[in-house]
Amino acid sequence: MPERSRLRWLGALAFLACLSPALARADEREVVGRSLDGRPIILFSDSALNPALKVLVVGDIHGDEPAGMRIARRLIAAEAPPRTELLVVPTINPDGLAAGTRGNARGVDLNRNFPFRWQPLGGGEYAGAGPLSEPESRAAHRLILREKPDLTIWFHQPFGLIDKPEGNPFAAHRFADLIGLPLVRLRGPFPGSASRWQNHAYPTSTAFVAELPHRVGNLLVRRGATAVRTLAAELASPAVG
Ligand SMILES: [Zn+2]
Repeated sequence: MPERSRLRWLGALAFLACLSPALARADEREVVGRSLDGRPIILFSDSALNPALKVLVVGDIHGDEPAGMRIARRLIAAEAPPRTELLVVPTINPDGLAAGTRGNARGVDLNRNFPFRWQPLGGGEYAGAGPLSEPESRAAHRLILREKPDLTIWFHQPFGLIDKPEGNPFAAHRFADLIGLPLVRLRGPFPGSASRWQNHAYPTSTAFVAELPHRVGNLLVRRGATAVRTLAAELASPAVG
């Protein structure tokens, strides 16, 4: 390409970049903690201009329930929804994911290790030596204290439902409609669960569990990512407030 037309082309591109808020957006990657075995826990974040809503998506907490990571990856690949700051942690349990186990490298169920109503459970729901005894749950706890997301979605498997949260169920109800899964309240009490700790610590925000089915096809992955983006855009829109 001749130098002059190349410059003209670059100039046009720079002009378009100024016009397009999408190209002005930041896209960041941060190691927010390390697992017991030293694997990084990575946060991907992207923000629309003037965000009115902060959304956190955790793709995986139980290492043998990895399907939510596929939704997380789709979210990371796209820009943040309008008026939204989108935070995505594909997994907070990289050791469990590598080993295909529910718990972390010490066998702790990280979703029983949070400080709200923690109990010394054993067996498959081993809750650890105490609240936040594990580096992975401490990393998630620290991240949530720092970011204070308005909405948090924790992906799990295999029940194929959206767990109706205590507190305001509006976002979970809408998400259930968008992704096409029923809204059901799982029978708790789930001591030490991350979402229940959040709903208790930050009653004006919402956290809920999305249980994907055992088998997750590409259609559901696409629908899940679209559901997150649509819900975020709706909640961030001034009409909904
Ligand atoms: Zn789970």
